[in-house]
Amino acid sequence: MNLENQDVVVLGAGRSGFAAARLAASRGASVVVLDTASGDQAAAIEKRAADQLPANCTLVTGDAAENYDVDHALLVTSPGIRLDKGWGMKVASRASLVMGEIELAWRFLPPHVKVVGITGTNGKTTTTSMVGAMARANGLVAVEAGNIGLPLAEVVLDHPDVQLVALELSSFQLETIIDFRPDVVVWVNFAPDHLDRYMSLEDYRLAKERIFENLGDGDPVVAPVSEADDLPLRDLALTSFTVTPGHATDADITVDAEGTLAIRGRKAANVNDWNVRGRHNYANAAAALGACLALGLDEAHCFEAMMSFTGHPHRFEVVATIDGITYVNDSKSTNIHSLDAALHAEASKVVLIAGGKQKGLDFSVLKPLVHNRARGVVAIGEIRDELARIWQDDVPVVTAQSLDEAVAEASQMAGDQGLVLFSPGTSSFDMFSNYEERGEAFRRVVLNRAAAIGSSN
Ligand code: ADP
Repeated sequence: MNLENQDVVVLGAGRSGFAAARLAASRGASVVVLDTASGDQAAAIEKRAADQLPANCTLVTGDAAENYDVDHALLVTSPGIRLDKGWGMKVASRASLVMGEIELAWRFLPPHVKVVGITGTNGKTTTTSMVGAMARANGLVAVEAGNIGLPLAEVVLDHPDVQLVALELSSFQLETIIDFRPDVVVWVNFAPDHLDRYMSLEDYRLAKERIFENLGDGDPVVAPVSEADDLPLRDLALTSFTVTPGHATDADITVDAEGTLAIRGRKAANVNDWNVRGRHNYANAAAALGACLALGLDEAHCFEAMMSFTGHPHRFEVVATIDGITYVNDSKSTNIHSLDAALHAEASKVVLIAGGKQKGLDFSVLKPLVHNRARGVVAIGEIRDELARIWQDDVPVVTAQSLDEAVAEASQMAGDQGLVLFSPGTSSFDMFSNYEERGEAFRRVVLNRAAAIGSSN
Protein backbone atom coordinates (compact mmCIF):
# COMPACT_ATOMS: atom_id res chain seq x y z
CA MET A 1 0.00 0.00 0.00
CA ASN A 2 1.42 3.36 -1.00
CA LEU A 3 0.38 6.31 1.17
CA GLU A 4 2.89 8.81 -0.24
CA ASN A 5 1.10 12.18 -0.61
CA GLN A 6 -2.28 10.55 0.09
CA ASP A 7 -4.93 12.19 2.24
CA VAL A 8 -5.74 10.06 5.24
CA VAL A 9 -8.43 10.88 7.80
CA VAL A 10 -8.34 9.02 11.11
CA LEU A 11 -11.58 8.82 13.14
CA GLY A 12 -11.05 8.87 16.88
CA ALA A 13 -8.17 10.30 18.91
CA GLY A 14 -7.66 7.33 21.22
CA ARG A 15 -4.52 5.27 21.41
CA SER A 16 -5.18 3.25 18.24
CA GLY A 17 -6.26 6.38 16.33
CA PHE A 18 -3.02 8.17 17.20
CA ALA A 19 -1.01 5.06 16.32
CA ALA A 20 -2.74 4.82 12.92
CA ALA A 21 -2.10 8.53 12.33
CA ARG A 22 1.60 8.17 13.20
CA LEU A 23 1.92 5.15 10.93
CA ALA A 24 0.20 6.82 7.96
CA ALA A 25 2.28 9.98 8.49
CA SER A 26 5.49 7.92 8.61
CA ARG A 27 4.58 6.55 5.17
CA GLY A 28 4.27 10.04 3.67
CA ALA A 29 0.52 10.64 3.99
CA SER A 30 -0.97 13.93 5.00
CA VAL A 31 -3.11 13.05 8.00
CA VAL A 32 -6.10 14.62 9.75
CA VAL A 33 -7.33 13.11 13.02
CA LEU A 34 -10.99 13.83 13.81
CA ASP A 35 -12.59 13.59 17.23
CA THR A 36 -15.93 15.10 18.17
CA ALA A 37 -14.87 15.62 21.81
CA SER A 38 -15.16 19.21 23.02
CA GLY A 39 -14.29 21.26 26.10
CA ASP A 40 -11.89 19.71 28.64
CA GLN A 41 -11.81 16.42 26.79
CA ALA A 42 -10.72 18.14 23.58
CA ALA A 43 -8.08 20.10 25.50
CA ALA A 44 -6.66 16.85 26.89
CA ILE A 45 -6.58 15.32 23.40
CA GLU A 46 -4.85 18.42 22.01
CA LYS A 47 -2.17 18.16 24.68
CA ARG A 48 -1.56 14.50 23.83
CA ALA A 49 -1.48 15.35 20.13
CA ALA A 50 1.18 18.01 20.73
CA ASP A 51 3.32 15.39 22.48
CA GLN A 52 2.71 12.44 20.22
CA LEU A 53 1.71 13.42 16.69
CA PRO A 54 4.26 14.44 14.05
CA ALA A 55 4.09 17.68 12.05
CA ASN A 56 2.19 16.26 9.07
CA CYS A 57 -0.78 15.30 11.29
CA THR A 58 -3.51 17.80 12.09
CA LEU A 59 -6.00 17.30 14.91
CA VAL A 60 -9.57 18.60 14.46
CA THR A 61 -12.01 18.39 17.40
CA GLY A 62 -15.57 19.40 18.41
CA ASP A 63 -17.92 21.02 15.89
CA ALA A 64 -15.17 21.35 13.31
CA ALA A 65 -14.74 17.57 13.43
CA GLU A 66 -18.53 17.09 13.23
CA ASN A 67 -18.65 19.12 10.03
CA TYR A 68 -15.34 18.10 8.48
CA ASP A 69 -15.55 17.19 4.79
CA VAL A 70 -13.55 14.00 4.25
CA ASP A 71 -13.57 14.63 0.51
CA HIS A 72 -12.54 11.20 -0.79
CA ALA A 73 -9.68 10.61 1.61
CA LEU A 74 -8.79 7.17 2.94
CA LEU A 75 -10.65 6.82 6.24
CA VAL A 76 -9.11 4.83 9.09
CA THR A 77 -11.51 4.19 11.95
CA SER A 78 -11.20 3.34 15.64
CA PRO A 79 -13.20 0.41 17.07
CA GLY A 80 -15.39 2.54 19.32
CA ILE A 81 -16.94 4.51 16.46
CA ARG A 82 -20.13 3.28 14.79
CA LEU A 83 -20.20 3.58 11.04
CA ASP A 84 -23.80 2.45 10.63
CA LYS A 85 -25.40 5.63 11.93
CA GLY A 86 -24.86 9.28 12.84
CA TRP A 87 -21.54 11.05 12.40
CA GLY A 88 -19.54 7.93 11.55
CA MET A 89 -21.91 7.04 8.74
CA LYS A 90 -21.88 10.58 7.36
CA VAL A 91 -18.09 10.76 7.36
CA ALA A 92 -17.66 7.26 5.92
CA SER A 93 -20.01 8.05 3.04
CA ARG A 94 -17.56 10.75 1.83
CA ALA A 95 -14.44 8.53 1.99
CA SER A 96 -12.78 6.75 -0.93
CA LEU A 97 -12.08 3.69 1.22
CA VAL A 98 -12.79 2.82 4.86
CA MET A 99 -10.66 0.50 6.98
CA GLY A 100 -9.84 -0.04 10.63
CA GLU A 101 -6.49 0.48 12.31
CA ILE A 102 -5.89 -3.31 12.27
CA GLU A 103 -6.25 -3.49 8.49
CA LEU A 104 -3.98 -0.48 7.93
CA ALA A 105 -1.28 -1.73 10.28
CA TRP A 106 -1.43 -5.32 8.99
CA ARG A 107 -0.72 -4.03 5.48
CA PHE A 108 2.55 -2.58 6.77
CA LEU A 109 3.69 -5.54 8.87
CA PRO A 110 6.75 -7.19 7.32
CA PRO A 111 5.63 -10.44 5.62
CA HIS A 112 7.84 -12.67 7.77
CA VAL A 113 5.98 -11.62 10.95
CA LYS A 114 3.50 -14.33 11.97
CA VAL A 115 0.11 -13.12 13.16
CA VAL A 116 -2.09 -15.23 15.44
CA GLY A 117 -5.57 -13.65 15.31
CA ILE A 118 -7.58 -14.42 18.46
CA THR A 119 -11.27 -13.78 18.93
CA GLY A 120 -14.11 -15.12 21.07
CA THR A 121 -16.58 -13.91 23.68
CA ASN A 122 -14.49 -14.69 26.77
CA GLY A 123 -10.85 -15.64 27.22
CA LYS A 124 -9.40 -13.58 24.37
CA THR A 125 -7.00 -11.58 26.54
CA THR A 126 -5.85 -14.61 28.50
CA THR A 127 -5.35 -16.72 25.36
CA THR A 128 -3.51 -13.86 23.67
CA SER A 129 -1.08 -13.57 26.59
CA MET A 130 -0.59 -17.32 26.59
CA VAL A 131 0.28 -17.34 22.88
CA GLY A 132 2.79 -14.53 23.52
CA ALA A 133 4.31 -16.36 26.48
CA MET A 134 4.56 -19.66 24.57
CA ALA A 135 6.18 -17.98 21.58
CA ARG A 136 8.75 -16.24 23.81
CA ALA A 137 9.49 -19.55 25.55
CA ASN A 138 10.31 -20.80 22.03
CA GLY A 139 12.87 -18.02 21.64
CA LEU A 140 10.78 -15.78 19.38
CA VAL A 141 10.43 -12.03 19.74
CA ALA A 142 6.69 -11.89 20.35
CA VAL A 143 4.28 -9.15 21.40
CA GLU A 144 0.63 -9.14 22.43
CA ALA A 145 -1.35 -6.51 20.55
CA GLY A 146 -4.80 -5.39 19.41
CA ASN A 147 -7.71 -5.26 21.82
CA ILE A 148 -5.40 -6.21 24.69
CA GLY A 149 -3.94 -2.68 24.60
CA LEU A 150 -0.96 -2.23 22.25
CA PRO A 151 -2.27 -1.06 18.85
CA LEU A 152 -0.95 -3.08 15.90
CA ALA A 153 0.20 0.20 14.30
CA GLU A 154 2.51 0.73 17.30
CA VAL A 155 3.95 -2.74 16.72
CA VAL A 156 4.77 -1.76 13.12
CA LEU A 157 6.30 1.55 14.21
CA ASP A 158 8.07 0.65 17.45
CA HIS A 159 8.88 -3.08 17.36
CA PRO A 160 11.06 -3.61 14.29
CA ASP A 161 12.44 -6.94 15.60
CA VAL A 162 9.08 -8.59 16.17
CA GLN A 163 8.65 -12.11 14.80
CA LEU A 164 5.21 -13.05 16.10
CA VAL A 165 2.16 -10.97 17.06
CA ALA A 166 -0.51 -12.48 19.30
CA LEU A 167 -3.37 -10.25 18.17
CA GLU A 168 -6.55 -9.99 20.25
CA LEU A 169 -9.47 -8.99 18.04
CA SER A 170 -12.85 -7.74 19.20
CA SER A 171 -15.92 -7.95 17.01
CA PHE A 172 -15.71 -4.16 16.61
CA GLN A 173 -12.17 -4.41 15.22
CA LEU A 174 -13.18 -7.19 12.85
CA GLU A 175 -16.01 -5.08 11.43
CA THR A 176 -13.51 -2.92 9.56
CA ILE A 177 -11.09 -5.40 8.02
CA ILE A 178 -10.79 -5.79 4.25
CA ASP A 179 -7.94 -8.17 3.29
CA PHE A 180 -6.63 -8.94 6.79
CA ARG A 181 -5.52 -12.57 6.90
CA PRO A 182 -3.92 -13.92 10.09
CA ASP A 183 -1.50 -16.84 9.78
CA VAL A 184 -3.52 -18.74 12.39
CA VAL A 185 -7.03 -18.01 13.67
CA VAL A 186 -8.01 -18.88 17.22
CA TRP A 187 -11.77 -18.92 17.90
CA VAL A 188 -11.83 -19.24 21.68
CA ASN A 189 -15.62 -19.57 22.07
CA PHE A 190 -18.89 -17.82 21.32
CA ALA A 191 -21.73 -16.79 23.64
CA PRO A 192 -24.29 -13.98 23.88
CA ASP A 193 -22.84 -10.53 24.68
CA HIS A 194 -22.79 -6.93 23.44
CA LEU A 195 -26.48 -6.90 22.63
CA ASP A 196 -26.42 -3.21 23.48
CA ARG A 197 -24.28 -2.61 20.36
CA TYR A 198 -25.64 -5.20 17.92
CA MET A 199 -29.20 -5.53 16.63
CA SER A 200 -29.12 -9.30 17.19
CA LEU A 201 -26.92 -12.14 18.34
CA GLU A 202 -26.56 -13.12 14.70
CA ASP A 203 -25.07 -9.69 13.85
CA TYR A 204 -22.56 -10.03 16.71
CA ARG A 205 -21.62 -13.50 15.50
CA LEU A 206 -21.27 -12.40 11.86
CA ALA A 207 -18.92 -9.60 12.91
CA LYS A 208 -16.74 -12.12 14.74
CA GLU A 209 -16.85 -14.62 11.89
CA ARG A 210 -15.24 -12.05 9.63
CA ILE A 211 -11.94 -13.30 11.08
CA PHE A 212 -12.29 -16.29 8.68
CA GLU A 213 -13.23 -14.39 5.54
CA ASN A 214 -9.83 -14.09 3.87
CA LEU A 215 -8.43 -17.47 4.84
CA GLY A 216 -7.45 -19.88 2.08
CA ASP A 217 -7.47 -23.68 1.81
CA GLY A 218 -5.32 -25.33 4.45
CA ASP A 219 -4.96 -22.23 6.63
CA PRO A 220 -4.85 -23.20 10.31
CA VAL A 221 -7.78 -22.55 12.65
CA VAL A 222 -8.10 -23.51 16.32
CA ALA A 223 -11.61 -23.87 17.80
CA PRO A 224 -13.55 -25.77 20.49
CA VAL A 225 -14.70 -29.13 19.16
CA SER A 226 -18.26 -28.34 20.32
CA GLU A 227 -18.41 -25.25 18.09
CA ALA A 228 -16.50 -26.50 15.05
CA ASP A 229 -19.59 -27.55 13.08
CA ASP A 230 -21.12 -24.09 13.39
CA LEU A 231 -18.11 -22.23 11.97
CA PRO A 232 -17.62 -21.30 8.31
CA LEU A 233 -14.46 -23.43 8.04
CA ARG A 234 -14.56 -24.88 4.48
CA ASP A 235 -11.20 -26.56 3.80
CA LEU A 236 -9.26 -24.98 6.63
CA ALA A 237 -6.93 -27.04 8.82
CA LEU A 238 -8.78 -27.30 12.12
CA THR A 239 -7.12 -28.06 15.45
CA SER A 240 -10.00 -28.71 17.87
CA PHE A 241 -9.85 -28.69 21.64
CA THR A 242 -12.03 -29.56 24.62
CA VAL A 243 -11.65 -29.47 28.39
CA THR A 244 -15.09 -30.81 29.25
CA PRO A 245 -14.45 -33.89 31.40
CA GLY A 246 -16.04 -37.10 30.27
CA HIS A 247 -16.94 -35.68 26.87
CA ALA A 248 -16.52 -38.52 24.41
CA THR A 249 -14.60 -36.64 21.80
CA ASP A 250 -12.19 -36.80 18.97
CA ALA A 251 -10.79 -33.35 19.68
CA ASP A 252 -7.11 -32.85 18.83
CA ILE A 253 -6.25 -31.37 22.23
CA THR A 254 -8.05 -32.56 25.36
CA VAL A 255 -7.74 -31.97 29.09
CA ASP A 256 -9.44 -34.67 31.17
CA ALA A 257 -10.85 -34.50 34.71
CA GLU A 258 -7.51 -35.59 36.18
CA GLY A 259 -5.70 -32.77 34.40
CA THR A 260 -4.00 -34.81 31.69
CA LEU A 261 -3.51 -32.82 28.53
CA ALA A 262 -3.37 -35.04 25.47
CA ILE A 263 -2.50 -34.15 21.90
CA ARG A 264 -4.23 -36.44 19.41
CA GLY A 265 -4.55 -39.10 22.10
CA ARG A 266 -0.95 -38.87 23.31
CA LYS A 267 -0.51 -37.77 26.96
CA ALA A 268 1.64 -34.66 26.77
CA ALA A 269 1.38 -32.76 30.08
CA ASN A 270 -0.33 -32.56 33.44
CA VAL A 271 -2.01 -29.20 33.86
CA ASN A 272 -2.18 -29.64 37.64
CA ASP A 273 1.53 -28.79 37.66
CA TRP A 274 0.89 -25.42 36.03
CA ASN A 275 0.54 -22.06 37.65
CA VAL A 276 -2.71 -21.56 35.72
CA ARG A 277 -5.94 -22.24 37.63
CA GLY A 278 -9.51 -22.96 36.44
CA ARG A 279 -10.83 -25.23 33.71
CA HIS A 280 -11.67 -22.33 31.42
CA ASN A 281 -8.02 -21.35 31.56
CA TYR A 282 -7.08 -24.87 30.47
CA ALA A 283 -9.33 -24.25 27.46
CA ASN A 284 -7.46 -21.01 26.80
CA ALA A 285 -4.13 -22.83 27.16
CA ALA A 286 -5.30 -25.59 24.80
CA ALA A 287 -6.34 -22.95 22.27
CA ALA A 288 -3.01 -21.13 22.58
CA LEU A 289 -1.12 -24.41 22.30
CA GLY A 290 -3.09 -25.33 19.17
CA ALA A 291 -2.02 -22.07 17.54
CA CYS A 292 1.63 -22.53 18.49
CA LEU A 293 1.69 -26.13 17.25
CA ALA A 294 0.14 -25.00 13.97
CA LEU A 295 3.10 -22.65 13.60
CA GLY A 296 5.54 -25.48 14.24
CA LEU A 297 6.63 -24.36 17.73
CA ASP A 298 7.94 -26.85 20.25
CA GLU A 299 5.32 -28.18 22.66
CA ALA A 300 7.72 -28.67 25.60
CA HIS A 301 8.66 -24.97 25.46
CA CYS A 302 4.95 -24.08 25.32
CA PHE A 303 4.33 -26.11 28.49
CA GLU A 304 7.28 -24.40 30.19
CA ALA A 305 5.55 -21.08 29.52
CA MET A 306 2.41 -22.38 31.26
CA MET A 307 4.38 -23.45 34.34
CA SER A 308 5.25 -19.81 35.02
CA PHE A 309 2.17 -18.09 33.50
CA THR A 310 0.67 -15.84 36.13
CA GLY A 311 -2.50 -14.77 34.34
CA HIS A 312 -4.09 -11.36 34.34
CA PRO A 313 -5.47 -9.31 37.19
CA HIS A 314 -9.26 -9.60 37.66
CA ARG A 315 -9.48 -12.87 35.68
CA PHE A 316 -9.80 -15.70 38.15
CA GLU A 317 -6.96 -14.12 40.11
CA VAL A 318 -6.13 -15.65 43.49
CA VAL A 319 -5.89 -12.70 45.92
CA ALA A 320 -5.07 -14.46 49.19
CA THR A 321 -5.72 -17.51 51.33
CA ILE A 322 -6.83 -16.51 54.81
CA ASP A 323 -7.44 -19.14 57.48
CA GLY A 324 -8.00 -21.85 54.88
CA ILE A 325 -10.30 -19.76 52.64
CA THR A 326 -8.99 -18.79 49.20
CA TYR A 327 -10.35 -15.56 47.70
CA VAL A 328 -10.54 -15.31 43.89
CA ASN A 329 -11.06 -12.03 42.06
CA ASP A 330 -12.86 -12.58 38.72
CA SER A 331 -14.15 -9.02 38.35
CA LYS A 332 -13.70 -9.19 34.55
CA SER A 333 -16.64 -11.61 34.59
CA THR A 334 -19.25 -9.33 33.02
CA ASN A 335 -21.63 -11.79 31.40
CA ILE A 336 -23.41 -15.10 32.02
CA HIS A 337 -20.86 -17.08 30.01
CA SER A 338 -17.88 -15.94 32.11
CA LEU A 339 -19.81 -16.62 35.34
CA ASP A 340 -20.69 -20.04 33.99
CA ALA A 341 -16.98 -20.68 33.28
CA ALA A 342 -15.97 -19.49 36.76
CA LEU A 343 -18.48 -21.87 38.37
CA HIS A 344 -17.05 -24.73 36.31
CA ALA A 345 -13.49 -23.75 37.11
CA GLU A 346 -12.92 -25.61 40.36
CA ALA A 347 -13.46 -29.22 41.34
CA SER A 348 -15.14 -28.37 44.68
CA LYS A 349 -18.08 -26.12 45.49
CA VAL A 350 -17.51 -22.39 46.04
CA VAL A 351 -19.15 -19.49 47.82
CA LEU A 352 -20.09 -17.05 45.09
CA ILE A 353 -20.28 -13.27 45.28
CA ALA A 354 -22.17 -12.07 42.19
CA GLY A 355 -24.22 -9.16 40.92
CA GLY A 356 -23.82 -5.62 39.67
CA LYS A 357 -25.58 -3.62 37.04
CA GLN A 358 -28.94 -4.61 35.59
CA LYS A 359 -28.17 -5.22 31.92
CA GLY A 360 -31.05 -7.51 31.06
CA LEU A 361 -29.22 -10.83 31.39
CA ASP A 362 -31.19 -13.97 32.23
CA PHE A 363 -29.60 -15.45 35.36
CA SER A 364 -32.22 -18.20 35.62
CA VAL A 365 -30.23 -20.22 33.04
CA LEU A 366 -27.58 -20.67 35.74
CA LYS A 367 -29.97 -22.21 38.30
CA PRO A 368 -28.78 -25.84 37.89
CA LEU A 369 -25.14 -24.76 37.92
CA VAL A 370 -25.52 -22.55 40.99
CA HIS A 371 -27.33 -25.44 42.66
CA ASN A 372 -24.53 -27.90 41.83
CA ARG A 373 -21.44 -25.72 42.16
CA ALA A 374 -22.17 -23.13 44.87
CA ARG A 375 -22.45 -23.69 48.62
CA GLY A 376 -23.93 -20.26 48.99
CA VAL A 377 -24.33 -16.93 47.21
CA VAL A 378 -23.88 -13.34 48.34
CA ALA A 379 -25.75 -11.11 45.90
CA ILE A 380 -24.65 -7.49 45.44
CA GLY A 381 -25.40 -4.44 43.32
CA GLU A 382 -28.47 -3.31 41.44
CA ILE A 383 -29.58 -6.89 40.73
CA ARG A 384 -29.08 -8.33 44.23
CA ASP A 385 -32.76 -8.83 44.99
CA GLU A 386 -33.37 -10.30 41.55
CA LEU A 387 -30.52 -12.80 42.01
CA ALA A 388 -31.81 -13.74 45.46
CA ARG A 389 -35.29 -14.34 44.06
CA ILE A 390 -34.00 -16.46 41.15
CA TRP A 391 -31.51 -18.62 43.06
CA GLN A 392 -32.90 -18.88 46.60
CA ASP A 393 -34.60 -22.24 45.93
CA ASP A 394 -31.28 -23.69 44.77
CA VAL A 395 -28.83 -22.44 47.34
CA PRO A 396 -28.67 -20.20 50.46
CA VAL A 397 -28.57 -16.58 49.23
CA VAL A 398 -27.95 -13.42 51.24
CA THR A 399 -27.75 -9.87 49.93
CA ALA A 400 -25.10 -7.30 50.79
CA GLN A 401 -24.96 -3.53 50.35
CA SER A 402 -21.20 -3.26 49.89
CA LEU A 403 -18.19 -5.38 49.02
CA ASP A 404 -17.00 -5.21 52.63
CA GLU A 405 -20.25 -6.70 53.79
CA ALA A 406 -20.25 -9.23 50.93
CA VAL A 407 -16.77 -10.54 51.77
CA ALA A 408 -17.68 -10.82 55.46
CA GLU A 409 -20.89 -12.75 54.63
CA ALA A 410 -19.11 -14.99 52.13
CA SER A 411 -16.32 -15.78 54.61
CA GLN A 412 -18.91 -16.79 57.16
CA MET A 413 -20.64 -19.06 54.62
CA ALA A 414 -17.29 -20.62 53.65
CA GLY A 415 -16.59 -21.60 57.28
CA ASP A 416 -13.09 -22.90 57.82
CA GLN A 417 -12.11 -23.81 54.28
CA GLY A 418 -12.98 -23.45 50.61
CA LEU A 419 -13.05 -20.82 47.96
CA VAL A 420 -14.80 -17.46 47.87
CA LEU A 421 -15.31 -16.55 44.23
CA PHE A 422 -16.05 -12.95 43.23
CA SER A 423 -17.41 -13.40 39.69
CA PRO A 424 -20.09 -10.73 39.21
CA GLY A 425 -21.53 -12.01 35.89
CA THR A 426 -22.54 -8.51 34.86
CA SER A 427 -21.00 -5.08 34.49
CA SER A 428 -19.88 -2.84 37.29
CA PHE A 429 -21.30 0.56 36.39
CA ASP A 430 -23.87 0.60 39.18
CA MET A 431 -21.18 0.80 41.90
CA PHE A 432 -17.83 1.37 40.11
CA SER A 433 -16.47 3.07 36.99
CA ASN A 434 -15.16 -0.16 35.49
CA TYR A 435 -14.29 -3.78 36.23
CA GLU A 436 -10.71 -2.87 37.22
CA GLU A 437 -11.91 -0.50 39.96
CA ARG A 438 -14.38 -3.14 41.14
CA GLY A 439 -11.66 -5.83 41.23
CA GLU A 440 -9.28 -3.56 43.08
CA ALA A 441 -11.97 -2.78 45.65
CA PHE A 442 -12.49 -6.53 46.19
CA ARG A 443 -8.75 -7.10 46.48
CA ARG A 444 -8.47 -4.28 49.04
CA VAL A 445 -11.28 -5.67 51.16
CA VAL A 446 -9.66 -9.14 51.14
CA LEU A 447 -6.18 -7.81 51.93
CA ASN A 448 -7.57 -5.66 54.78
CA ARG A 449 -9.22 -8.76 56.13
CA ALA A 450 -5.90 -10.65 55.88
CA ALA A 451 -4.15 -7.83 57.75
CA ALA A 452 -6.85 -7.65 60.43
CA ILE A 453 -6.83 -11.41 60.99
CA GLY A 454 -3.02 -11.48 60.92
CA SER A 455 -2.84 -8.82 63.63
CA SER A 456 -5.44 -10.53 65.83
CA ASN A 457 -3.65 -13.92 65.61
P1 ADP B 1 -11.84 -11.31 27.05
O1 ADP B 1 -10.58 -10.62 26.66
O2 ADP B 1 -12.42 -12.13 25.94
O3 ADP B 1 -12.85 -10.47 27.78
P2 ADP B 1 -10.52 -12.40 29.43
O4 ADP B 1 -9.37 -13.34 29.27
O5 ADP B 1 -10.25 -10.99 29.78
O6 ADP B 1 -11.39 -12.47 28.10
O7 ADP B 1 -11.55 -13.02 30.49
C1 ADP B 1 -12.83 -12.40 30.69
C2 ADP B 1 -13.66 -13.15 31.70
O8 ADP B 1 -14.01 -14.42 31.17
C3 ADP B 1 -12.97 -13.44 33.02
O9 ADP B 1 -13.96 -13.40 34.03
C4 ADP B 1 -12.42 -14.82 32.87
O10 ADP B 1 -12.26 -15.50 34.10
C5 ADP B 1 -13.50 -15.47 31.97
N1 ADP B 1 -12.91 -16.43 31.02
C6 ADP B 1 -11.63 -16.53 30.65
N2 ADP B 1 -11.47 -17.52 29.76
C7 ADP B 1 -12.70 -18.03 29.52
C8 ADP B 1 -13.20 -19.08 28.69
N3 ADP B 1 -12.39 -19.79 27.90
N4 ADP B 1 -14.53 -19.33 28.72
C9 ADP B 1 -15.36 -18.62 29.51
N5 ADP B 1 -14.94 -17.65 30.35
C10 ADP B 1 -13.63 -17.34 30.35
